[in-house]
Amino acid sequence: MDKLIDKARLSDWITALADWEVFAPALEDGVWTFKAAGEAVSLGHTNVKQPPKDFAFPQREIYFSFEQVKGEPPRLTQKLPAEAKRVVFGVRPCDGRAVPRMDRVFNDPQFPDAYYQARRNGLAYVGLACNRPVAPTCFCKSVGGSPVSSEGMDVLLTDLGDRYFVQAVTKTGEALVAAADKLFVKASPADKKALEKTHADAEAQPQRAIADAAGAAKKLKANFDSPLWETLAQGCIGCGICTFLCPTCHCFDINDEVTGTAPMKGNRVRTWDNCQFPDFTMHTSGHNPRETLGSRLRQRVCHKFQYFHENYGMLQCTGCGRCVSECPVGIDIVNVVNKVTENVA
Ligand code: SF4
Ligand code: SF4
Repeated sequence: MDKLIDKARLSDWITALADWEVFAPALEDGVWTFKAAGEAVSLGHTNVKQPPKDFAFPQREIYFSFEQVKGEPPRLTQKLPAEAKRVVFGVRPCDGRAVPRMDRVFNDPQFPDAYYQARRNGLAYVGLACNRPVAPTCFCKSVGGSPVSSEGMDVLLTDLGDRYFVQAVTKTGEALVAAADKLFVKASPADKKALEKTHADAEAQPQRAIADAAGAAKKLKANFDSPLWETLAQGCIGCGICTFLCPTCHCFDINDEVTGTAPMKGNRVRTWDNCQFPDFTMHTSGHNPRETLGSRLRQRVCHKFQYFHENYGMLQCTGCGRCVSECPVGIDIVNVVNKVTENVA
């Protein structure tokens, strides 16, 4: 179902989605962030600073509350999020490709995550193809992606000047378009030709690259003990920006937050955690199997390019470039993978 919508009617489309909570990129203090969509939405953003992963996997969420009254069994009240219809507009293809990767983790048949699933079930993504790389740090093509990929999206929009070409990818996407059917016109053969040219031009734009992403898993494994890990990690301050801003990083911690002692009560809370923190793997004995900067950098990189690939048959990095552009000391995952894998057979 290929259609077009005038850019000037985008806000009307959003208004027509009355059954949905709609989010779109907004520029605040020079930073693009997903916000509840207002009346005037335009998709003139580069990429948002924070990927949309927190819509399904929030930074902090309560699993259940507990209360222990003396002499009585503990009272546990589960805080499963209510399913809600939410749609995020303007998701870039690298962040769209993160969606099936996060789904693979949290929908694992062995360990299904009811909290993630409750949020994810009503969640839809309207993507926006990148006619040109949105940042010099983009490298989606070399990790199997594309600036015009629709993977993970429900609808893909492509900017054709004063209109968007609209491709519904899923049944949910078709419903989003159908909700405002009158605003769309059917794509003509000339429109489809314009789309093909725009996509071909986008694919042809130069990007940075992981030299051998397909072979990286094997080569990283072979170079596990390389001294390069410590050399390349020099300067890391363990701030965790690289993983907190990554659309596919999903490590978390679970803690009990006590809010009262008579009776004992509180909440069991899940929060994002971070493999770049020095105490992430600290044991109660005091032993830390990842004591050095290099061992922690190796974990981050090998999780993306080796372990995830071994477990799920796909790379976990989508080439968004955030960990490169936002690292305060310039640690660059493209450079790291290329250095550690070069000259490895
Ligand atoms: S590892 Fe870096 S470039 Fe890859 S998806 Fe995560 S933040 Fe983006
Ligand atoms: S963003 Fe840079 S300095 Fe911060 S933890 Fe990651 S690699 Fe280290």
